[in-house]
Amino acid sequence: MYPEDAKKTFVLKGIGASPGIVTGKAYLYDRLDSLISFYTLSDMALVESEIKRFQNAVAKSEKELLEVKDKLSNIGGIEPSYIMDVHIMILNDGAFINSTIQFIKDMYVNAEWAIRMTVDKYRDIFDKVEDDYLRKRFNDIQYIAQMILRNLSGKKRRSVEELELGKGVIIIAQDLSPADTAQMKFDQVLGFATDVGGKTSHTAIVARSIEIPAVVGLKTLTRMVHTNDEMIVDGTSGVVIINPDPDILRRYEEKRRLEREGKTEYLKYAQLPAVTLDNYRVEIGGNIEFCEEIPTALTNGAEGIGLFRTEYIYINREELPSEEDHLASYRRVVGVEGLAWSTIRTFDLGGDKFFSDSKLSKEMNPQMGLRAIRFCLREVDLFKVQLRAILRTSFFGKTKLLFPMISGIEEIREAKRILNEVKKELEGAKIPIDDDIEIGIMIEVPSAVIVADELAKEADFFSIGTNDLIQYALAIDRINDRVNYLYEPLHPAVLRLIKQVVDVGHSAGIPVAMCGEMAGDPVCTMILLGLELDELSMHPLAIPKVKKIIRGSTLKESKELLTKVMSLRSSVEIRAYVEAFMKERFPHDIPEIDQ
Ligand code: PEP
Ligand code: MG
Repeated sequence: MYPEDAKKTFVLKGIGASPGIVTGKAYLYDRLDSLISFYTLSDMALVESEIKRFQNAVAKSEKELLEVKDKLSNIGGIEPSYIMDVHIMILNDGAFINSTIQFIKDMYVNAEWAIRMTVDKYRDIFDKVEDDYLRKRFNDIQYIAQMILRNLSGKKRRSVEELELGKGVIIIAQDLSPADTAQMKFDQVLGFATDVGGKTSHTAIVARSIEIPAVVGLKTLTRMVHTNDEMIVDGTSGVVIINPDPDILRRYEEKRRLEREGKTEYLKYAQLPAVTLDNYRVEIGGNIEFCEEIPTALTNGAEGIGLFRTEYIYINREELPSEEDHLASYRRVVGVEGLAWSTIRTFDLGGDKFFSDSKLSKEMNPQMGLRAIRFCLREVDLFKVQLRAILRTSFFGKTKLLFPMISGIEEIREAKRILNEVKKELEGAKIPIDDDIEIGIMIEVPSAVIVADELAKEADFFSIGTNDLIQYALAIDRINDRVNYLYEPLHPAVLRLIKQVVDVGHSAGIPVAMCGEMAGDPVCTMILLGLELDELSMHPLAIPKVKKIIRGSTLKESKELLTKVMSLRSSVEIRAYVEAFMKERFPHDIPEIDQ
């Protein structure tokens, strides 16, 4: 999953300024600071010529602004060109210009330095302004300064238009002025991400008006990203991921596909229960990686969080997260109004993600290496920090605890033993928890299916992770394109494995959920109904369509379909049969499959 040469992954959270998801290469746009030099002027004659140089740059900037305003009016939407008016006003108003000239005269400094001083003076004034909107208008002063500085430097206006961007880039900047954005060829700009800004900043306004995903207010972004870095901009949740690992990249590609797929058409099913025509009810959960995805999960009809992948709490930092860091994250998920439960999965990574030293040597085959529960059982102190936080969270709302990669009974017993130790410590410290927190086992290693009857005695529920279960059962690296054609959820072996887990779980009296991608695949929905899974947890964006299919099916016909399919011998036959069946049954809802 994490190739040796993978660059470090960072996740930054900002403000989702323009919705939508995009993945692509970063392009780091110029920064104001790089343009500022400092020198003193030795006599009055030089001061005079410096003022002249400055005034020429101002005149040039005004000309540019008028040109840009013209261009912007073609984009549509009145806001961007209104912003240009504000900029032209600042130039014409004189205060900014006069202040800069005064600094040159009084202090014998070059124009660039004088501009910097004027900007600082304005910053002091704006910092004191209470009104948020007005305070942010300081950005306008900065844009003007930046523009004059560029013209002073004699640099040509560098625009994305002039760059060979190939298939498009994500523009990274401290901030972007409308003048910057007006230069861009929008078909080459996939998204924006900036250090500063809020929902009303210019980048946000322009991004919304041209419908390009944007996240602003990321603070340290420009210091962490380099041109050509791979990145994801999720403008819906306000999350940016730099150098995402292949797994998360794949998940976001899927989210993107779902977003593109006529969401409004299905959204009317989002808030309805997932109940079949003959009254069989399935619980629907949402899979999330970040708390910021909760609003999307709710709007799309998640009844609970069926899988909170907690990995990113660890990845995104130099230091290990503290118990309070964990708690802060979980508290934003658990007990949220509208969510009946939240299943928090303990982390599912290899140790290389948090120990950069040689404590853990690089593994040849990390997917099958010292990761997930195996790693936790080795690094108990680190594991306990997460368990304490999850237990503390459980006091505030229905929380379920899920252990990944369990391959046999020893692992779950050991995990529970450690959990009980942590419970006792918390009780001793009189910290309230939910004493009956449900414990779940992810069924994603084939051996866990085989000994599921034993595992069922140790757990309150199962959750089938088909992504890994398929990978391990069929021996296909789930991120290796060359064997991707073999990745088949409808493989008879996979169906038999799932059936076995559900049957064993039910005869032991525990519910069985599914939280792998298969749970959100509409082609598989009736098969999963036939298998009688109790909960399906999926990308939030997949929920409305799956609900529609469930509400349009009966358990009876789903079981008949399953019986038929279980009698077929190959995955090719099953795939063809199920797809044909589903296309006939739901002609408008099953996408064309491009193999
Ligand atoms: C799975 O393996 O199906 C699963 C849900 O976990 P992840 O995709 O995070 O490995
Ligand atoms: Mg998994």
